[in-house]
Amino acid sequence: MQRSEIINWLRETDPGWLEDLWRLADQTRRENVGDEVHLRGLVELSNHCVRLCGYCGLRAANAGLQRYRMSDDEVLRCARQAVEFGYGTVVLQSGEDPQLTGQRMTGLIRRIKAETPLAVTLSLGERDDNELAEWRRAGADRYLLRFETSNRELYDRIHPPKADVPSAAKRRKSDRLAILETLRNLGYEVGSGVMIGIPGQTFDDLADDIELFGRLELDMIGVGPYLCHPDTPLADRRAWPDAPAGRQVPADEAMTYKVIALTRLVCPLTNIPATTALATLNTDYGREWGLVRGANVAMPNLTPPKYRILYEIYPDKACIAETGRKCQQCLSDRIKALGRRPGAGRGDSPNYHQRLAADGTSVP
Ligand code: SAH
Repeated sequence: MQRSEIINWLRETDPGWLEDLWRLADQTRRENVGDEVHLRGLVELSNHCVRLCGYCGLRAANAGLQRYRMSDDEVLRCARQAVEFGYGTVVLQSGEDPQLTGQRMTGLIRRIKAETPLAVTLSLGERDDNELAEWRRAGADRYLLRFETSNRELYDRIHPPKADVPSAAKRRKSDRLAILETLRNLGYEVGSGVMIGIPGQTFDDLADDIELFGRLELDMIGVGPYLCHPDTPLADRRAWPDAPAGRQVPADEAMTYKVIALTRLVCPLTNIPATTALATLNTDYGREWGLVRGANVAMPNLTPPKYRILYEIYPDKACIAETGRKCQQCLSDRIKALGRRPGAGRGDSPNYHQRLAADGTSVP
């Protein structure tokens, strides 16, 4: 797809024309990844974080947040629930928490792999290469790390160096693209993505993001609207102004659907979730609209409710008070109502299998 086409679609507001984009994305989704909706049980295992991301409520400097870290047994209970509910994957997500040490995570991954048939996806932030390698050896299948925006200047502003490194000289700029490359070389299924409508993000930036998805040949791509958390620096609109009039990307529902649809067209074989952030903007139908405009994955939350309310990356998260069982029932009803079916098995990314075949590597 030409860049000018991407930009034109991002700026399109006519509902009639947009119907064409939705139809094309849905057809591309059906032809390339089929009608199954793969379900990933999400476990938010710790909200401790050493980072100072300007957008995220888990940031180290947010003193108002009560912190928690789940025990291995608690995580295992969630994993068993994932099996009971018929999910093929468990996603372990957290703030960047050094107490989730390399060794501890290795033990946890080994236990999940030994006791369940689940695929294990990690989303633990920017970790050392040796930890990523060790976790892969322990059996972790996939890793999610969004690059958040491809505009380097904007990224550096919203994602400063770690909080716990005292000397400025030792602070390394975060380089998520380098980590994505490492993950790929280690044989992970690699996922990334961006936030839509970050203050200062322009239409050109967003078109760059979508083009970069294509170049990175990602196996999974998660996109969602930026949602303002009042206890973060980005909430100060004087310090974090929008891009000049007419250039700022709105952080709204329509824009999110456009990015999902365009991502499907640029990366036909990738797995794309209808994200919780989208469901937060439209609790009634956000997930469904995502699923009929290019998405093929949903991530029901398995985090125990007492912890779930503390994993507040942004306020008013969808399904915050539901139990895991309620989420399962609700989602599977919604998927069937769309004429689709919950995925069987692990739901690996077809893009992953294709690129392994192209590299001459057998499926691990
Ligand atoms: N610590 C991990 C997991 C973070 S939560 C990491 O940094 O990778 C996963 C995603 O939530 C982030 O990558 C970011 O894109 C999204 N997120 C965080 N704060 C958000 C906000 N205020 N609005 C919308 N999405 C947000």
